[in-house]
Amino acid sequence: MERNVTRSSKARLAAGATVLGTLWAAALFSQTTPVMDAAERRIALEKLTVVGSALYIGAHPDDENTALLAWLAKGRKVRTGYLSLTRGDGGQNLIGTEQGDPLGVIRTEELLAARRIDGAEQFFTRAVDFGYSKTPEETLRIWGREGVLADVVWVIRNFRPDVIITRFPANGDGGHGHHTASAILAAEAFSAAADPKRFPEQLAYVRPWQAKRLVWNAWRRPGEERPATAPPQLSVDLGVWDPILGESYAELAAASRSMHKSQGFGASPRRGSVLNYFELVAGAPISSGLFDGIDLTWTRVPGGEAVGTLLAKALAVYSDEDPAASVPALLEALAALDGLERDPWVVVKRGELLEAVRACTGLWLETMAANATVTPGSSVDVTAVALNRSDVPLTLVRVVMPYSPRLYIDRPEATRTPTIGGGTRDPMMPLLKNQPVTLVFALSFPSDEPYSQPYWLAAPHGVGTYAVPGQELVGLPHGPPAITATFVLRVGQQELVYEVPVMHRWTDPVAGERTRDLAVVPRVTVNLEAPVLIFPDRTRRVVRALVRGHEANASATVKLAAAPGWRVEPQGIPVAFEKAGEERTVRFTVTPPEAQGGGELVAFLQSGGREERARSVVEVDRSHIPPQTLLPPASARLVRVDVARPVKRVGYVMGSGDEIPAILRQLGFEVTLLSDDDLEEQNLLAFDTIVVGVRAYNTRPRLAEAQERLLAYVQGGGTLVVQYSTSRDLVTERLGPYPFTLSRDRVTDEAAPVKILIPGSPLLTYPHAVEPADFDGWVQERGLYFPEKWDPRYQALLSMSDPGEPATEGALLFVTSGKGSYVYTGLAFFRQLPAGVPGAIRLFVNLLAGGRSHA
Ligand SMILES: [Zn+2]
Repeated sequence: MERNVTRSSKARLAAGATVLGTLWAAALFSQTTPVMDAAERRIALEKLTVVGSALYIGAHPDDENTALLAWLAKGRKVRTGYLSLTRGDGGQNLIGTEQGDPLGVIRTEELLAARRIDGAEQFFTRAVDFGYSKTPEETLRIWGREGVLADVVWVIRNFRPDVIITRFPANGDGGHGHHTASAILAAEAFSAAADPKRFPEQLAYVRPWQAKRLVWNAWRRPGEERPATAPPQLSVDLGVWDPILGESYAELAAASRSMHKSQGFGASPRRGSVLNYFELVAGAPISSGLFDGIDLTWTRVPGGEAVGTLLAKALAVYSDEDPAASVPALLEALAALDGLERDPWVVVKRGELLEAVRACTGLWLETMAANATVTPGSSVDVTAVALNRSDVPLTLVRVVMPYSPRLYIDRPEATRTPTIGGGTRDPMMPLLKNQPVTLVFALSFPSDEPYSQPYWLAAPHGVGTYAVPGQELVGLPHGPPAITATFVLRVGQQELVYEVPVMHRWTDPVAGERTRDLAVVPRVTVNLEAPVLIFPDRTRRVVRALVRGHEANASATVKLAAAPGWRVEPQGIPVAFEKAGEERTVRFTVTPPEAQGGGELVAFLQSGGREERARSVVEVDRSHIPPQTLLPPASARLVRVDVARPVKRVGYVMGSGDEIPAILRQLGFEVTLLSDDDLEEQNLLAFDTIVVGVRAYNTRPRLAEAQERLLAYVQGGGTLVVQYSTSRDLVTERLGPYPFTLSRDRVTDEAAPVKILIPGSPLLTYPHAVEPADFDGWVQERGLYFPEKWDPRYQALLSMSDPGEPATEGALLFVTSGKGSYVYTGLAFFRQLPAGVPGAIRLFVNLLAGGRSHA
């Protein structure tokens, strides 16, 4: 039974934020309790006096100019956002094997980690990063132009930027079709957002918005002379030193940019002047600054002058040693703000003000669950702590915790009085300076509590866009936390209300304290041994499934259902768990049909007379981002394709990470992962074939030395198959027995016609006769970083091109040398094999054979 995602997400939205504006205003604070030092506090107080905003628009995680974001957020102190049209799920992963959806989750969290450093907020559209695109026309066709435009308009109407800045120009100089499309959509959205006739369905939630101007964050080579006829450009120095921060914005940006670890974008700071240029695209002209002609004061908010005066007062009396001295003025400003009409700025600044009060009182609020996960229908203890570290007389009025009928107050036993009925009697506990107040709640989750899932992955998605359940979620980096507690505090006659996500905390022996959101997971999950199961002949095989119980005494019967023609035995396997977190491996025997073809293998769980589709649990855990739990449907793709085994022992030199070794093992090859030491010490001729993984010559410095031995291995009779590396940062120029040079040529259309140049080549005939049909059904792209020039002794075997482009012939190079064979290929086998593409599997096995029988 599938859950009604739309209903539950809406319910969660209602619980997490009573108004949409709050959710948007709180986007930055949803993950961890912010800790502000003296510099951050002062900047936060200064920022309260500035009423202005800027939105930066690019296509991918890493497109953003982090120095500019830091300058805007911390220097100009305007509300700053980065709208990345995609989540970067189509890229390559330099820190693990995740691709696609899980990679997009990693990149989303990396962007949020970067924003926590540069002070900007993060937004997305529903667009999928489907891989490299050569033209904006192709990009907009695959995304669906109107849908993604609607999302950009939606973000603009919510965020209401005064200035919109694009990373790329619309003329194609940005290269990647996604880049150019981001500039085209930004220009269209600049006016569409202001037009009530465009996307009128959004006006149930937001008002039209006209930004003052749209500019391009122009690039210029150092010393570049611009022709006199070129459009004027404004220059801004992002390298100015901020005495409060103790560094420049460009310097700070390096730490922010270094969060893009899955892209290998660690950055060193640039010191000294860093000039940036801006060219007007639309809207009001610029003469001296990006915010020319924009009122950045409280006078732009109807009735806001008094608030502005009080906030200026809070800043005037601010002291690093005694930040609480600013609290009375901040509270007066809050009262004045609450007397104003509900202008969007009032919502945003209210959130900032509450954070400033928190920072100036050293107020610590947390709600920590005893476990990292909870299942529907079960319960978990949550400890809430409120700690006031100032002399400001704060009182805790109540903590509203969903699903908790009883509230215990942790006081000496004699005076302990449970309050029944969700706090009908408010405990009213004074928060004495530096005396934590601890409350323990037992949360009982309803049996239909929705699972925690990234909202954009809750439903299956197509190539171009994610399916998002509910307009309110569109644009947000992630949905509201599973459970949010509400702390109600009082100071004098004023109430202060803080929403605090329920999290779990643990101490990692290496990293120290780590936290994550509490996740709601199924009672039992099933992880099949691989997402793709390949049957190279009619032989039946054992398919393992790792079954995990997520609550004590969970039990179920695991069943696998296969496509017609496939047979699974036994029918079901019962499992039972004593404790939460226990795992069992169950084994099914799957017999393939005689005919080649494919199908799906789906796991079901039967329990208490009910049967439902099982989910897998995928933990994405890296030390620089909070761990994330994904719960995709438990299924695998079945592939029945006749594959010969011309060699036995394969050595694999892993590069930046790919899943090919696991696929080769499924096909029956003996695969050994080779370390640097192995390459330097082992008898390589013990392997029939050695395969070099993607980007190995970019990521493994010791290959520079080991390359001699690999080439000697070819001379001695081995087959060496080298997959693509990029031309930048090669550890050796000598990739093969004869010279060739790499280019950035790629064929991105996965259906681009392929011409076989030398049909009789042994590489294309043994053991499989490769046919045009073997190039059907490929995914994402044909290949990348093809060689452009090569020694004539190489045979170029394939020719291909994207529509309208000249043919490239470097996708597959082959040469025999000494007693062995050498193959270089930029074909994207690292995508095709894990996807179970039959033709690519057949061709790859031919490469392993190196054009000859090893028998
Ligand atoms: Zn990009």
